[in-house]
Amino acid sequence: VSREVKPDNTQLNIGGLTIGGAAFHVIAGPCSVESREQILSTAHAVKKAGATMLRGGAFKPRTSPYEFQGLKGDGLALLAEARQETGLLVTTEVKDTATLDAVAEHTDILQIGARNMQNFSLLEAVGERRKPVLLKRGMSATIKELLMAAEYIVARGNTQVILCERGIRTFETMTRNTLDLNAVPMLKALSHLPVFVDPSHGIGVRKAVPAMMRAATAVGADGIIVEVHPDPPRAKSDGAQSLDFSEFEKSMNEVRAIAQAM
Ligand code: PEP
Ligand code: MN
Repeated sequence: VSREVKPDNTQLNIGGLTIGGAAFHVIAGPCSVESREQILSTAHAVKKAGATMLRGGAFKPRTSPYEFQGLKGDGLALLAEARQETGLLVTTEVKDTATLDAVAEHTDILQIGARNMQNFSLLEAVGERRKPVLLKRGMSATIKELLMAAEYIVARGNTQVILCERGIRTFETMTRNTLDLNAVPMLKALSHLPVFVDPSHGIGVRKAVPAMMRAATAVGADGIIVEVHPDPPRAKSDGAQSLDFSEFEKSMNEVRAIAQAM
């Protein structure tokens, strides 16, 4: 994935969209798919605000086994319905190799979560596919470890990888994570792969997410992935960092202005 090997930027062509080119992309949607009404209303709202892709977890890697684990197969079917109805491309997390076939069938981009960044069997398995991968940085992973995780995928022949900075663990406890925006220019310099930022998990505080959306745009990312929910206080996961529709729409106008000025 090194720029020394391939000096020009890798561009991914996914369902008519070019990632890693001139256009800035916004992936938006709930942390978890919760219901038909929730995912369809969110898909329509984020599309109207200018998002080009829909996110939504169906297989959720939760810290506690007693927390909502996702709608699993039913969640995948609802994402497919939202994709069909809105034309938005879809990304969802693949949690393990056992569910890879099912997830790959229903998604345009396979998301590998922070907790799985060094799940080498999973990296090898997605490396065997020819489907784009959004690879999130582990919460305690260095930039080099993220790049090496990407190597595992690319070495198997799947060159369609997007790197994603999503915040790392530091001594700071006021925020959920510390969004390492340093990683963006470093990754862009070291690698030819597109780089995204997840400001939602990166800071974890709803009121502070829009500022980090703007910052991620200004620092030169190729896109961002943002959690949006129709009613954040009632979300089954990550409500504390999810924007409602009007907050998202307002932030999108700001992000668009910054992206156009770049
Ligand atoms: C998510 O995108 O909802 C998620 C679980 O992210 P991460 O793997 O970065 O924690
Ligand atoms: Mn989440």
